[in-house]
Order: sequence, then structure tokens, then C-alpha cells
Amino acid sequence: MDADTVKSLARETGFDLVGITPTGPTLAAAFYPEWLAAGYHGEMSYLEGHRGGLRSEARQLLASAKSLISLGLIYDTRQPYTPDVEFTSQAWISRYAWGDDYHDVVRRLLYQLVERIEKQTGPFEHKVCVDTAPLLERAYAAQAGLGWIGKNTCLINEKIGSWIFLGEILTSLELAFDDPAPFRCGTCTRCIDACPTDALVPIAQTAGPSHALDSTKCISYWTIELHGPIPEDDRPGLGPHVFGCDICQDVCPWNRRAPQTDRPDFQPRNALPELEELAILTEDEFNERFADSPIERARYGGFLRNVAVAMGNSGNRDFLPLLETLAANADPLIQEHARWAIEEIGAIE
Ligand code: SF4
Ligand code: SF4
Repeated sequence: MDADTVKSLARETGFDLVGITPTGPTLAAAFYPEWLAAGYHGEMSYLEGHRGGLRSEARQLLASAKSLISLGLIYDTRQPYTPDVEFTSQAWISRYAWGDDYHDVVRRLLYQLVERIEKQTGPFEHKVCVDTAPLLERAYAAQAGLGWIGKNTCLINEKIGSWIFLGEILTSLELAFDDPAPFRCGTCTRCIDACPTDALVPIAQTAGPSHALDSTKCISYWTIELHGPIPEDDRPGLGPHVFGCDICQDVCPWNRRAPQTDRPDFQPRNALPELEELAILTEDEFNERFADSPIERARYGGFLRNVAVAMGNSGNRDFLPLLETLAANADPLIQEHARWAIEEIGAIE
């Protein structure tokens, strides 16, 4: 089978972007050990060690892999960007978590694509990856020509922007490779200037990405990956965010005319919820409401911790009774963040 046939089957399957690249190390992989050594991964220890080492070379995941098919799926929908919203009582949930869990959606499509290819070629060795596999997905996507890695560290496609879910098929098929996309950030620094916590740091690489994410300063890390207390000094920086952050993508000019998806699974059901409705969720209600959503990853205690901080940052005195209830929660993590929020609101004249 040739690469063009694979690409047209990918589009028939529903993917918006497809490119093919070798399975050896990428340019971004060269910086990965340095990124780890700088401690930019914070408490995400699963990124270190043997599993971390696998990330830099896709063929370590499948010895027979000759090609990596990188695939992208648009997930933007008709909803505002962070700077368009005046937050008084609402919470911000990251755009990628507004609909169904993309891992399930993308994985299903990847298997459908494998099936379509196998109908024509017969069985071949393959491995399907969606985020959870140890693989530098964005680096391979950039190398496969899907876009470039912007200063906001996201993959950006010049026609689609950065609201793209990625998935990969490692395959024993020998296919023609695509060229990497050129870097098109130019002199723009909007994402760096807009990041409320200065989490985007320059890196001294002659090739590959120009900036790296210091996760330990990033709102997405605090609200999703960090399981313990959020450092007090960092809490005001969270603003209204209770799960992830989109600011560095919302301000990117390449997202101004980003196309939107009509896929039912990505239509928003968790965009801009009221903080009040989140603060009264029981653990069972949280698990039920977010069962098919990436939000489940924050876990109940972590999510309510974030809600308490966002309430404190709102300065809204109407939240005080609910915060008193959270301060009496059985979980010390929720209690402590609720008490902090009460003090924050109390400190406002
Ligand atoms: S996600 Fe938010 S906190 Fe993280 S780098 Fe982007 S703007 Fe900064
Ligand atoms: S905001 Fe500007 S610098 Fe940042 S990723 Fe977009 S184009 Fe690049």
C-alpha cells in the first residue's frame, strides 16, 4: 500500500490531519532529558526512567515499526475563548475536556483505520497510541508535517490551529515519509506574554522547539496532575481555572479562524459551569457526571480543591456559605483550600 492510499483512508475514517514519519528519535527528543533534569515535569514521575526513555524513540514500542502514521482530529467547538469571558461565578474547564474523553474517541478511530488498511493489505504489525503510550506525540506529529511546535509548546497547523487531538499508528508497513512543517511563530510572543504564571521558558536549541513548558508553573499541571496541596503563593494565579488552562492557545493568532467540529462526541457539556454547582457535587455525583470525561483524572478531592481556590480568587462573597461547607469536608485537602479561599474573600474590602 502507498502513503497516499493510507492518507485517503485516514480521511475517510474521519481524521482531519495525517502525516507519515520515521520511527527513530526526533529533534525534540534531544531536549527531553534536559527538560526532565530541569525538573520541569514536577511530580509526573511516570515521565522519567525506563518509560520516559521509551518516549524519545517510537520504534522501541514496536520493534518491527518502519513508519509512524500521525493523525489529528479537530476538537474546537462554538464556544468563547478565555479572554472573552468575564468571570464572576463561572469556572474554566479546558476546552479539550468539554466533551467525551478523546482517548476513547481517537483510539476507536485508529482501530477503524487499521481495519480499513488491513482490508487492502492483509494483517500487518502495528501499535496504536493515544497520549497514554510513552511517546513524544507532538514531536512526531511535527516531524510528520502536521504542524510546528509553537512557543506555547502546542502543535499548530497553519489551517487548523492548535485545537487538535493526536493519535498514532506505528506500523511495519514501509511508507513514504512527509517533510516537517516550518516554524511559523515568527516574532510573536502573545502566548508567553499572556501566560499568567510565566510557565513558558525559552530553551537553547539550534533546531526543534524554541520554548519548553515548566509544568511546575503551569495551571494545567496544578489543576490536573498535582494531587496534594497547591502552593499558597501560586493559588491566585489559578484564577477561575478548575481543570486545565487554554490561555496560551486562546490568544494564539493561528486559532482565530480555527475550524470547528460537528462531531457529537466533542460537543460541549462541561463548558463554563457555575462554581456553585461544582462545589455541591458529592463524590458519587462527581464520578457519575464526569465518568466519560477527562475531568475524572483530577479526582474528586483534587477537583473540589480547585473549585475552592477558584471561588477564593473570584472575590465573590456569595460563595462564603458554600466555602464554609467545603471547609467542613472530611478531606483535609478540601478543608484547607476552602479555609484559604474564605480568608482571601475576607481580605477584600
Ligand atoms: S496552559 Fe496556562 S498556565 Fe500553562 S503555559 Fe499555557 S497559559 Fe501558561
Ligand atoms: S501565540 Fe504566537 S508565539 Fe505563541 S504559539 Fe501562537 S504564534 Fe507562536
